Amino acid sequence: MQKQIKTLVKAAGIERRHVAAARMWAERHALATFGKSREKLTGRILCYHSIDEPEMGVNDVSERQFRDQIELAIAKGYRFVEPQRIARGHGQDKELAITFDDGRKSVLTHAARILAEYQIPWTLFVVTKWTDEHSAQSPIISWRDVETLRANGVEIGSHSSTHPDFGTLDERYLAEELAGSRAMFAQRLGFEPISFAIPLGQSMNWTAAAAAVAREAGYEIIYAQAEETRPPDTVPRTFVTHFDSPRIFSALLSGAYDSWEEWV
Ligand SMILES: [Zn+2]
Repeated sequence: MQKQIKTLVKAAGIERRHVAAARMWAERHALATFGKSREKLTGRILCYHSIDEPEMGVNDVSERQFRDQIELAIAKGYRFVEPQRIARGHGQDKELAITFDDGRKSVLTHAARILAEYQIPWTLFVVTKWTDEHSAQSPIISWRDVETLRANGVEIGSHSSTHPDFGTLDERYLAEELAGSRAMFAQRLGFEPISFAIPLGQSMNWTAAAAAVAREAGYEIIYAQAEETRPPDTVPRTFVTHFDSPRIFSALLSGAYDSWEEWV
């Protein structure tokens, strides 16, 4: 299927990301209607990337969407808890947690403000070299921003040093991407995170070698994507996309996307 789409895209001269977005939109809608419902009794961890940053494409949600999703979850009787609680297996029925990947500025300008308003605990996964190269023009937060969020109770985790695809990464770079990221936290902010979110996060973006090096580096919790297709010893997360209307978000809370992986 993917191969056919690629050929089609090439022939039509359409940008791949547009086709991917169209396919994702169709998939999200189809699963909301036909996906199996699997209510999760041990809590569900949501994964977001940015708010009101259209350049983030399918990974971006609007502020309105984000607020509506929180309100919808609360109206359905869900409670928001710390991601670690669910990750460590202490989550219960109707518990939800929120994580943000990549450390973009909109987590500071939008997410932090909204989540504080609802008193929702959350975790942010920072790409250490991106943050280290922060500038006034870059869309990535600075170390000072990370420090402020942490001081305000946000759990900070690592999202690697440079956001590589661990599925194809030369094993020589594993230590730098995993232990190296942790060491940079220690150097810049004086603490070492125990949580790690796999960049891209699909099952094909992680290997047994990466898992071994991650554990050795001191990461206790490793977050991936879909419930049913995640690599061994990782914690599932449910990705929320640009296309997630209240209907799709409701289906997502009921587990309609538990075997779905974002592939763009
Ligand atoms: Zn990422």
